[in-house]
Amino acid sequence: MAPLFNENKKPTDYKIVRELFKFVYQTKNMKDTLKHKGMRNKLVKLLERKGIADPKVLEAIKTVPRHLFLDSGFEDHAYQDKAFPIGAEQTISQPYTVAFQTELLRIKPNDSILEIGTGSGYQTAILLHLRAKVYTIERQKELFKKTKLFFGKMGYRPKKVIFGDGYKGLPEEAPFDGIIVTAGAPEVPKPLLSQLKIGGRLVIPVGIDEQIMTLYIRKSEKEFEKQELGTFRFVPLLEDKN
Ligand code: SAH
Repeated sequence: MAPLFNENKKPTDYKIVRELFKFVYQTKNMKDTLKHKGMRNKLVKLLERKGIADPKVLEAIKTVPRHLFLDSGFEDHAYQDKAFPIGAEQTISQPYTVAFQTELLRIKPNDSILEIGTGSGYQTAILLHLRAKVYTIERQKELFKKTKLFFGKMGYRPKKVIFGDGYKGLPEEAPFDGIIVTAGAPEVPKPLLSQLKIGGRLVIPVGIDEQIMTLYIRKSEKEFEKQELGTFRFVPLLEDKN
């Protein structure tokens, strides 16, 4: 019979206690309070003044707790309309940019959306809130691992979180109703255009030092309508994984 108390088991016990403390600590820091909700309401008003009009997009910004996508300690920055560093030289996009790009996608529930540049996962969460089926790709291993874990903790359920190179798109899940690129592309990657449904929309910031937000709507197998919608600044879309 196995002994009831086994000295060898002790490290495991410590591990459990440590994990428990970690869990309690993290949960304590993962609160969404009335104060945060108030700050989000203010942010939404600001985005409305800046021209965001889609009520569903505004509702998503009002609901998703952006402060939890930043490392704790940076809470105060979460509801300013600013981009913010998230490690690995990357940034969480500015709320206005997230709202602007999301609005351009015209998401309907169950739309299949490909996101290039998972980053902090905030944009992903906004897409999920709009009830899209989301496939998201990140090329930075560190960020990919961290954000995938975070989605699990928060109960966010993208269809797939992929470590890979977004330049190639995701042929095995194509075609998509929408594709959103959240990093600045020197030029439009051809695979992304070819992975759109007819009627599908690609929202991509194009340029090197600064980017022009560009919307492509696929009109037929071979025709695309192109619209240019103002200047933005993104971290660069880089090739290959890292
Ligand atoms: N949507 C993110 C924005 C993050 S910044 C958010 O809301 O936080 C852009 C992200 O694109 C970075 O994390 C960067 O690592 C990633 N990226 C850059 N080039 C990429 C590529 N070729 N494929 C996939 N991700 C890429």
